[in-house]
Amino acid sequence: MEKLQSLTAHRLKELIEKGDVRPSNILSDLFDRIKALDGKVKAFVRVNKPDAAEADRVNKAGKLAGIPITIKDNICVKDEETTCASKILADFKPPYDATVIKKLRAEGAILMGKSNMDEFAFGSSCETSCYGPTKNPWDLERIPGGSSGGSAAAVAADETILALGSDTGGSIRQPASLCGVVGLKPTYGRVSRYGLIAFASSLDQIGPITKDVEDAALLLGVIAGHDEMDSTSVDVPVPDYKRSLVKDVRGLRIGVPKEYFIKGLDKEVEDSVRGAINVLKDLGAKIVDISLPHTEYAVSTYYIIAPAEASSNLARFDGVQYGHRAKTSKDMIDMYIKTRSEGFGNEAKRRILLGTYCLSSGYYDAYYLKAQKVRTRIREDFDKAFGACDLVVTPTSPTAAFKIGEKMDDPLSMYLSDIYTIPANLAGLPAMSIPCGFSKNSLPIGMQILAKPFDEETIFRAAYTFEQNTEFHKQKPKL
Ligand code: GLN
Repeated sequence: MEKLQSLTAHRLKELIEKGDVRPSNILSDLFDRIKALDGKVKAFVRVNKPDAAEADRVNKAGKLAGIPITIKDNICVKDEETTCASKILADFKPPYDATVIKKLRAEGAILMGKSNMDEFAFGSSCETSCYGPTKNPWDLERIPGGSSGGSAAAVAADETILALGSDTGGSIRQPASLCGVVGLKPTYGRVSRYGLIAFASSLDQIGPITKDVEDAALLLGVIAGHDEMDSTSVDVPVPDYKRSLVKDVRGLRIGVPKEYFIKGLDKEVEDSVRGAINVLKDLGAKIVDISLPHTEYAVSTYYIIAPAEASSNLARFDGVQYGHRAKTSKDMIDMYIKTRSEGFGNEAKRRILLGTYCLSSGYYDAYYLKAQKVRTRIREDFDKAFGACDLVVTPTSPTAAFKIGEKMDDPLSMYLSDIYTIPANLAGLPAMSIPCGFSKNSLPIGMQILAKPFDEETIFRAAYTFEQNTEFHKQKPKL
């Protein structure tokens, strides 16, 4: 019999419905796999042991009945440790479920555990985690990407069936690209952020990391929708995404922005992405040259706005109500200082300092306000481009996975690894990364597909058509 851990959610769903497989069979294969591999990959920070009999009793009518899913460690699960891979949240057990968790439970999904991430989602490599780095299943000396690196590595290594990540500047798409799996950042407002521990509230979105496009459509259908607990979630109907899984891109206009094919883009990545664009063209899409002229300001804009919001959001971690508290202190101020100095890692401290500086009186107008204005320009670039095309296709990451340690002492070069993913967050657009090639070292390469706000359907259509006509998503790392 096929190894259940390597199957997709939609295939397992069929097998469960037919009665050929029980959820407990899937769990047992997955736990064997985790036992054998996760000592090397380190995708998980905590593994649950769901009860087999209980798993088999799930409501078969649920859209994810009996399907195991792994949750990034910044999404609150009631009474389960949720730490954002930070010492400052050690032992924190949220008293409530995030809305996405409630929705998953309601559809019968089985929560398998928590995946590793960069501390508070600050990073592109999973190396800022207080638990140490996750390894890329394709090459254990390399990073899996970040910040949702644990989720992407778990999916790539067949240690889970589905995973959730969060994406503020690329944290779903970049690790998906580097691990050879599918990752979707939904439109800002498509998925409730209630219970997602905030990094930058105007940019954060939760989204699926999966083995194929159909699973991403299935999972988005479950987690999307308006939520009165998150005032930024938008009240628009959630389409049946399964209906957008058609193998046809004829007539679709695909924009290729010249500003994304520049110096710093690895030649192998460029060749793969251009090859993929040609595949779409051969399948009937119309390729249009477009320009997104403010792209060059995206990284600097993001690194004002994101740390500014992060510094405000992280102010609540003071050791008073929950999480880590310094053992000894002279007085209250001293307790705050010691708690925060001990609890936060270097990257978190860097972001807090940067953000606080940008927001301080006298600098607010020069930095934060200015960045907000540039953000508007970036959004307007896309508004204009979407007059001429239905989708935009770009590389997801300028390079394939880099070596562990390679960029840790050079924050600027680390920040530049998000050059292609950040604009979608600044503009609030949906964007997906799908596998589109391999480097000569057999490392996965991803392409990014962006659409207008709330048009995830067209992304699914193009991604599904590409996937069904290529073999990249079927490759597995040799572990
Ligand atoms: N790598 C980017 C950063 O460090 C994006 C992270 C994210 O999307 N959470 O901010």
